[in-house]
Amino acid sequence: MSGTVYLVGAGPGDPGLLTARALELIASADVILYDRLIPPAALDGARADAELLFVGKEGGGPSVPQEHTEALMIERAQAGASVVRLKGGDPFVFGRGGEEGLVLRAAGIDFEVVPGVTAGVAASAYAGIPVTHRGLSSAVALVTGHAQEDGRDSAGENESAIDWPALAAFPGTLVFYMGVRRLPEIAAALIAAGRPGSQAAAVVEAGTLPRQRTVNATLETIADAVVREQVRPPSITIVGPVAALAHELAWLPARPLAGLSVAVTRARAQASGLARRLEALGASVIQAPVIRVRQLSDPAQPTLDPSPYDLICVTSANGVQGLFARLDDGIHPRGDTRALATARVAAIGPGTAGALAEHGVIADVVPERFVAESLVEALADVPVTRALIARAREARDVLPDALRARGAQVDVLELYETVAEPLPAAALAAVREADYVTFTSSSTVRFFLQAAGQEAGLSPSTRIVSIGPVTSATLREHDLEPSIEADPYDIEGMIAALLTDAGSRVNDG
Ligand code: SAH
Repeated sequence: MSGTVYLVGAGPGDPGLLTARALELIASADVILYDRLIPPAALDGARADAELLFVGKEGGGPSVPQEHTEALMIERAQAGASVVRLKGGDPFVFGRGGEEGLVLRAAGIDFEVVPGVTAGVAASAYAGIPVTHRGLSSAVALVTGHAQEDGRDSAGENESAIDWPALAAFPGTLVFYMGVRRLPEIAAALIAAGRPGSQAAAVVEAGTLPRQRTVNATLETIADAVVREQVRPPSITIVGPVAALAHELAWLPARPLAGLSVAVTRARAQASGLARRLEALGASVIQAPVIRVRQLSDPAQPTLDPSPYDLICVTSANGVQGLFARLDDGIHPRGDTRALATARVAAIGPGTAGALAEHGVIADVVPERFVAESLVEALADVPVTRALIARAREARDVLPDALRARGAQVDVLELYETVAEPLPAAALAAVREADYVTFTSSSTVRFFLQAAGQEAGLSPSTRIVSIGPVTSATLREHDLEPSIEADPYDIEGMIAALLTDAGSRVNDG
């Protein structure tokens, strides 16, 4: 029995514009084939064991041939997998979704189409340009020159298909999906065919993304303006009187990290909170996960009996997830929280405490500073006979050693390990040029260096952001000097430190 293929639109870039249906399918898919122009956070909710296949174009490199993408999609579906084909914007608007649907139908594979918010409408809206407006425009035409969904250039195949006189005479707004390279030709062709050169025109770069920018001009001046402003893809061009409304309707507030790029190296599954916060502050986030969390299982002792312990220490949110997975007795998948009722529960920091709270457990002990040493201090007056430490395989032994030194019996339960996640060359290059690179644990430092071939190769202007003293020490061990250290040693502290640094940068400049 074949699986279903879902042709899913991921929207124009702002993760908030992913539809509920898209998120639901991403969360349940066995296989996700995705393009370059999908929102940076779109894959965060994918299952840890899902197969994620990039089928777009890397940087200036070659794109995966369309036939190859289609063959993969069919092969996985025939093997029974649930396949999400994730595309930027809407799959049926210059997204080759129709072609893929035809191929699937021919192969006898069921498919479903999930529309997405298309860039032409969304980027315009985020720039304060309504594509229709009473009295100004009662029709809108979506036009493409040549660029396909992933920036593939079909070598001008469609150029001849554009009827310039008809477009010039079109009684409404024209929205062009394409790179700005062809803008001079397009503007000239429209003017030659009778569209007034004085008509308002706007180019929206990276619409709905943190680095969104609008260039306002007229049809006559837009091509030069775009060169002057060095507009980069992806961008759309809007031609028509509505474009001038941007002067009155632009609504995106200026944001403190606007124009700054920040690389996030932590595991994809944990990165989304940080990435979203940074994006909301205007940063361009470079998703460069160098680690992945793998939950460990113990075939000899698949479930945990917490009753012998009077203290349970959890050292990360991943540990919380693993702990509750061990309480699973095969009947109650999230375990029964009351199993922990007799023990005191200690969390290393607020992130871990928050993850516990999601399971209805309020941590008894959370130290002031979020390192193992502080947890040891915070536990100084807590009587302990037998402790369970739920943690990563590669964690430091500060906590178990200290508790044992106090005479407690300590069991260490290794719940997960962090393993290397391959870093695509384009992502590595982007990290090296970023304004900031964030390291949220010692393992992100080590795995980043491993992915980078042991030579960080960061640009001299890149500022290294460390989440706390343990990570800073690991950085220094590798000859990397942190420019910023968070205080408190958590994500909030890191964002605050970054904002302060970015603020002083602006003042210096
Ligand atoms: N299926 C997509 C369009 C794919 S064609 C959709 O419905 O939006 C790719 C073109 O879309 C790019 O060349 C660019 O012109 C436009 N585009 C995609 N994302 C964009 C964005 N965030 N901002 C501006 N233009 C974008």
